[in-house]
Amino acid sequence: MSLEATLPGLDPAMEKEFNPWLAAEARFNEAATLLGLDDGFQKVLKSPAMEVTVHIPVELEDGRLEVFTGYRVQHSIARGPAKGGIRFAPDVTLDEVRALASWMTWKCAVVNIPFGGGKGGVICDPTLLSKNELERITRRYTAALMDVIGPERDVPAPDMNTNEQTMAWIMDTYSMHKRSTVTAVVTGKPLNLGGSRGRVEATGRGCLFVTLQALKKFGLEPSETKIVVQGFGNVGGKAAKLMHQAGMKIIAVVEWDGAVYNPKGIDPEALQKHRQETGSITGYAEAEDMDRFEAMFLPCDVLVPAAKENVIHSKNAAKIQAKIICEGANGPTTAEADQILDEKRIFVIPDILANAGGVTVSYFEWVQDRMGYFWNEEMVNSRLEEIMVNSFQDVVAYGERHKVHNRSAAYMVALDRVAFAIKLRGIYA
Ligand code: GLU
Repeated sequence: MSLEATLPGLDPAMEKEFNPWLAAEARFNEAATLLGLDDGFQKVLKSPAMEVTVHIPVELEDGRLEVFTGYRVQHSIARGPAKGGIRFAPDVTLDEVRALASWMTWKCAVVNIPFGGGKGGVICDPTLLSKNELERITRRYTAALMDVIGPERDVPAPDMNTNEQTMAWIMDTYSMHKRSTVTAVVTGKPLNLGGSRGRVEATGRGCLFVTLQALKKFGLEPSETKIVVQGFGNVGGKAAKLMHQAGMKIIAVVEWDGAVYNPKGIDPEALQKHRQETGSITGYAEAEDMDRFEAMFLPCDVLVPAAKENVIHSKNAAKIQAKIICEGANGPTTAEADQILDEKRIFVIPDILANAGGVTVSYFEWVQDRMGYFWNEEMVNSRLEEIMVNSFQDVVAYGERHKVHNRSAAYMVALDRVAFAIKLRGIYA
């Protein structure tokens, strides 16, 4: 979903607020100051370890040559190989990839898995490209990054507009160059190519686990819980399905082209089927169409922003009427909006915790690939639950102890863990 699609009349003065790297920095600075980290150490923690830009020539279907620009940023390798997805989008910027890479560092540290943080992006519009063109872009991008990625170095995964097929192409290209099959170079692969059971639903399932914990804090039963989901893709769609299965009422679903509302609850699988048949969630017989710019502000217990960055900002945060926000997307809330949500006493489950289920099962996938021994889905899901529940408890207890809101608590837990690793390793000179 493009920014313009989410924000009516985007004000150019808000550009700074919407710069994800500045947003990441604001949260970082706040947590680092609260932790009392000295300036030099803050610089070390904040700066990306490596940023690579590649310009990749690709032949299009009509025979023309086009050059695409791609990035891979390794923000940190202090606690293990860099880890994080690759996104394909026309509006990808280095600042965005940099911010997303740093969020991966903090995310992996919050759930305490042995990875640093990385992210990649290719500037392209997948809706205008054929499957063959996408394959050629992916393979050439991978070939350009042969010395950057690797199971012990940097392990990509899917993100916006990339999927299992993209990961299969990366795995194959990397393996061809290495002259042996290296499944652990990427995660989020198809099941029969070294993928893990439960990976496709993992981010949504993680959202479910932390939401259940938050509901307990509010004394709410799942059956009396009203949910609004913004973004009905891999994260929001799966979260909605699993929350519905857990007995919660999905009262509204918001997408880039419209929203649907039914106070009695929507069946996400039936809605998905409707979208497959008609190309849109709107016009669904079991719910009313609604203004997509208003649906996010319906009174509800849990709002799940699961699409893109910057959907909750200084101009609309005051309108939110949810008790809990479970951030399925990366960076859906701007730093300026944090304060407004805090004043409204909204219980925010921050992105680096709420959506960490995906990378957690990616970790399981990487472990399974390296063992060559695969787990059943029950094992994956129960280990995921254990990690998500423990991480939620750690963050919330830390926030209560230090009297800070959940986002600061999550950053503080994460920064502290990464700082500890760097201190133990020492600064190599
Ligand atoms: N792209 C996902 C994220 O932002 C998953 C990353 C991964 O599995 O490495 O968390």
